[in-house]
Amino acid sequence: MRHAITTRGSTKRALSPQRRIFSACFAVSAWIVVVVLAPTASGQGAIGKFDSNRAWEHLRQLVAIGPRPSGSAAIEQTRTYIKNQLAASGLTAVEQKWTDDTPAGKLPMVNLIATIPGARKDRIAIAGHYDTKRFTRFRFVGASDGGSSAAFLIELARALKARPNAYTIELLFLDGEEAVNEVWAGTDNTYGSRHYVEAAKRDGSLATLKALVLIDMVGDRDLRIRRDSNSTPWLTDVVWDAAARLKLDTYFIPSTTEVEDDHLPFVKAGVPSVDIIDLEYPQWHTAEDTLDAVSARSLQVVGDVVVAALPQIEARLTKLGIRK
Ligand SMILES: [Zn+2]
Repeated sequence: MRHAITTRGSTKRALSPQRRIFSACFAVSAWIVVVVLAPTASGQGAIGKFDSNRAWEHLRQLVAIGPRPSGSAAIEQTRTYIKNQLAASGLTAVEQKWTDDTPAGKLPMVNLIATIPGARKDRIAIAGHYDTKRFTRFRFVGASDGGSSAAFLIELARALKARPNAYTIELLFLDGEEAVNEVWAGTDNTYGSRHYVEAAKRDGSLATLKALVLIDMVGDRDLRIRRDSNSTPWLTDVVWDAAARLKLDTYFIPSTTEVEDDHLPFVKAGVPSVDIIDLEYPQWHTAEDTLDAVSARSLQVVGDVVVAALPQIEARLTKLGIRK
């Protein structure tokens, strides 16, 4: 995405009294949790529950591949990893392939689409990019920028596969979010989302796409996600309300910024969309966007919020559908 904020206050946030109490309770009750979960810990995890341990392992594996820019051998390896992990959850990833014109010439690109059938054919897409920005000056492995969204979606797919979904869920792994040139300009960015929306308009499938939840750069250890003024207000409210209910509003904060990201082609096409992104990441587009800068806890926070928001998104869409 285009980075709107270039500076940040780097004051450390102390643990709130509530969080201190939570930590203490957690330490005391940890053995109970182990005992209760042990019989079902044979590899499936709790139904519908996002497991950041699994997401973290995916993130580690993706970062280990190295830089993963569009058109590279490494992004092909990344696709293989994503497809294999989805298959392990019983999901088939369909490849949407095309060649796009970029400042570096024609590049092969691939979106990966995994569908979890729901009670309705109407879809909620949950998307994120899996490419990393190409840099020649330094080695860029994109732990948060490109890695976190892909790892998040792989684990979310597993969690939602086990959930009875009111709407069909589409996990959408987007290629080519990053600008090929150093500076984000014109059509040199969001290749995958633009291609997806154009194709969906042409084949008529856009009509059954009812909402988009976009995940981007959610690994930051110092997670702070602002509302985005380009996102759809009601959908943004639903997500931020879920965070408040879970007492995670120190991470999903009430202030607003403006973000240009993969949701814009969807917004322009009339699909209600929300971008969940932490823009205040000092390691953004630097050699320091590594595992040291990200945390499993941040992935868990976003996973919990998205899973908690989903029933409200479904209810709201059903209400909107009835009113039409
Ligand atoms: Zn980026």
